[in-house]
Amino acid sequence: MPLAAHKESMQDLTYTPKSAWKRFAAEADQKEIFKFVERYREFLSACKTERETIAYVERRLREAGYGEDPSSGFYLANLRGKSLFAARRGTLPLREGLSLIAAHADSPRLDCKQRPLIEQAGLAQAKTHYYGGIRKYQWLSRPLAIHGVIVRDNGECVEICLGEKPEDPVFCVADLLPHLAQKQVEQTVREAFDGEKLNIVVGHKLPSDEECETLETKEEKKEENPIKKAVLELLHEHLDICEEDLITAELEVVPAGSARYVGFDRGLLGAYGHDDRICVFTALEALLSSEHLGRSKAIMFWDKEEIGSDGATGASSRFLGYCVETITKAWDPTISASQVLLQSQALSADVTAALDPDYQDLHEKQNAAQLGYGPCFSKFTGSRGKYGASDADAEYFGLMRGLLNRANIPWQVAELGKVDSGGGGTVALFLAQWGMQVIDLGPALLAMHSPFELASCADIYATWLAYSAFLNR
Ligand code: MN
Ligand code: MN
Repeated sequence: MPLAAHKESMQDLTYTPKSAWKRFAAEADQKEIFKFVERYREFLSACKTERETIAYVERRLREAGYGEDPSSGFYLANLRGKSLFAARRGTLPLREGLSLIAAHADSPRLDCKQRPLIEQAGLAQAKTHYYGGIRKYQWLSRPLAIHGVIVRDNGECVEICLGEKPEDPVFCVADLLPHLAQKQVEQTVREAFDGEKLNIVVGHKLPSDEECETLETKEEKKEENPIKKAVLELLHEHLDICEEDLITAELEVVPAGSARYVGFDRGLLGAYGHDDRICVFTALEALLSSEHLGRSKAIMFWDKEEIGSDGATGASSRFLGYCVETITKAWDPTISASQVLLQSQALSADVTAALDPDYQDLHEKQNAAQLGYGPCFSKFTGSRGKYGASDADAEYFGLMRGLLNRANIPWQVAELGKVDSGGGGTVALFLAQWGMQVIDLGPALLAMHSPFELASCADIYATWLAYSAFLNR
């Protein structure tokens, strides 16, 4: 090889991730990015629980012709309003397997306890039990909303969503003032923030004597918990429920307010619940905009990922297998569902940690994800010596990398933090249990699991393109 040519080829040998902002620098692309992100922003502002998310997804799918009859080629199954599978029949026979994108619709939060209401120091409070991995102090002294359901003993279900409209009241956990925190600031974070102190303020007004007439007997109201009783009166008046009904409720306490653009240039979207509704929304949009050609395509959204994926609506249940059985009977009855599952190829669609500008030392930079460089492949998750990982095979990773390269979609690859500095898991291993090929692919976030997570607008758009390319093979 002549020297000059050799030098030229040398320049192309190194790998550098490509910026999604540079790839989508054209004015038309920029417009598309913000058109797409604005729709995502509205979805995220309205859907803050797994139930609200699954209801939204089901509504969008039904509008597009999906239903419970698989013979239509547009199948959907909703398990208890918390988990959903949808599939679109392709032109290739089902025995070639599904192209499946799986994500989770639950996010870390505070759940009200089954007997939440207490009264102390002139305040009515609701006791909570946190759900998923939170840093407790991030939930203090900020406006919170209550979303959920209350089930009466006759089975009737009352929905509640309070704290989102400008005229609604909000709720909050009052933090300790710095003046009295001298002992606390010397404790470890674990010691300083007690789970039993995550009590949200839900009432303060002492009822007037007149109002008290409506409460049982005059004696009772004066001595015991008059504020809590007044709160129960309000709940009874507006929702027709009593304290016992709260025992059979699922009341989720989440940050109040809408998703907001962040930065002078609005390049980021800040919100509660990007993890993992960013992947739910982009996967749903990818399925809805997918073509009829090629492999059959599916999406699977689970609940319970943030607490280990157990439970009937979590990824460790057999629901996915039952759904694949249903479509196999309808679309390719001479084969078994297990053959379809074995031949399937999946993306475990979940977020990863972006390189934190202020804690860069916790990442190994060459193998860290950076905001704005497209969705991120994680060959494996887990912790320490890759424990708990479904390590994707090189062959499948190569196939997926080639797919995105040929579609000119920016992507990157990362591990979650330095070796031995922590770790995390996704639903990849639950997909792998069926024998299918699977790899993690999703956007990176800053401040993951916080009440205000940050995502790059370019990454949100690029993730949708990547999932679309995957489903349209
Ligand atoms: Mn997640
Ligand atoms: Mn998570």
